[in-house]
Amino acid sequence: MNIATQLVQRARGLQNAQPITTPIYETTTFVFDSAQEVLDFNEGRSDKFLYSRYGNPTVTAVEEKIAKLEGAATAMLLSSGQGATSTALFGLLEAGDEVVCSSAIYGGTLHLLADLVSHFAVRSRFVSVEELRTPDAVLSEDTKLLWFESPINPTLRCVDIAAVATACRKRGVISVIDNTFASPVNQSPIALGVDLVMHSATKYLNGHSDVTAGVLAGPAELLDRVQKARKLLGTVLDPHAAYALGRGLKTLTVRMDRHNQSAMKIATWLAADTRVQTVHYPGLAAHEDHVIAKKQMRGFGGMICMDVGGGYERAAQFFDRLTLFNRAASLGGVESLCSLPVLTSQWGHSEQELQRAGVTKSMARLSVGLEDPDDLIADLDQALG
Ligand SMILES: *Cc1c(COP(=O)(O)O)cnc(C)c1O
Repeated sequence: MNIATQLVQRARGLQNAQPITTPIYETTTFVFDSAQEVLDFNEGRSDKFLYSRYGNPTVTAVEEKIAKLEGAATAMLLSSGQGATSTALFGLLEAGDEVVCSSAIYGGTLHLLADLVSHFAVRSRFVSVEELRTPDAVLSEDTKLLWFESPINPTLRCVDIAAVATACRKRGVISVIDNTFASPVNQSPIALGVDLVMHSATKYLNGHSDVTAGVLAGPAELLDRVQKARKLLGTVLDPHAAYALGRGLKTLTVRMDRHNQSAMKIATWLAADTRVQTVHYPGLAAHEDHVIAKKQMRGFGGMICMDVGGGYERAAQFFDRLTLFNRAASLGGVESLCSLPVLTSQWGHSEQELQRAGVTKSMARLSVGLEDPDDLIADLDQALG
């Protein structure tokens, strides 16, 4: 066989290679064979790619997996959780619309609505978890979209997802849930009637504290509108980050099983310890929303909020003494983390605002990682002093 034939055969082999992973398509642009092919793409008759800000095969492969996980027709990856939230809001809202948002919500969502989206003649009305118990009553004639989360940071209060979704559907209001804390392993909001699911994929979906990413999942009719906004805002995820997220996703179910089991064990241990004033974990029968959680969750997640009592000083002392839990914000990774809500999510809040969020100065939030739960309990035991 001459060299030319060998080279041709090897080139064919490359084309036929079937990698087990989706490679990183490290390209900004894609080659077309003809004007007709470009025309077909422009008119939606082609599954080719044009430009990576619009879409990239590595990104699309992960989007398809996440759509399946959420039981959604389609999903979209964005540059961060905040990228997902802002792109959804810009894609779906118009001047004059009203957004109803749970007041117990991720701080970035609250500030985005109150301080930025408000510049574009979109009004936001914030409602309490109690008010969300009668969701029909919180919607007005002008309400276009309702945004909520469950379980809620940091108290892990839960909202009846099906009840909120039904009330929104009846009135043609788009319902959006931030499903970050539960993950699709523990909770399936689309099956409960919610229109759109949002995630900070930075947390459990990636699970290794090394990628910042966001997700939206839902029907094509809504995501087509958001896709227009993503193209214009440029909030698509980079293919390298999408690859890493796709790798993290492969172990999501086994990671979540372990997070669920370890957190349940630790929460049960904490609840029996007299040095701890209150333990907030939706899997405990004593949790105020345990009945709702049990109805809509398959597992209760890896997040625990504990009130050690004795004010900020006792919480800070406990925090400083931890040796296995890392003192860090964020959640959902392999390594266990601890944060004090008054220094992170509720930083700068007044006494009244803290009370409304159900947050105290003696609270510590735990993100239970994948370490041996007995080692984590030993760390909590020594840190409680
Ligand atoms: C972290 C987080 C966000 C924001 O996500 P980023 O990836 O940091 O932009 C939104 N919602 C919840 C519940 C979060 O924990």
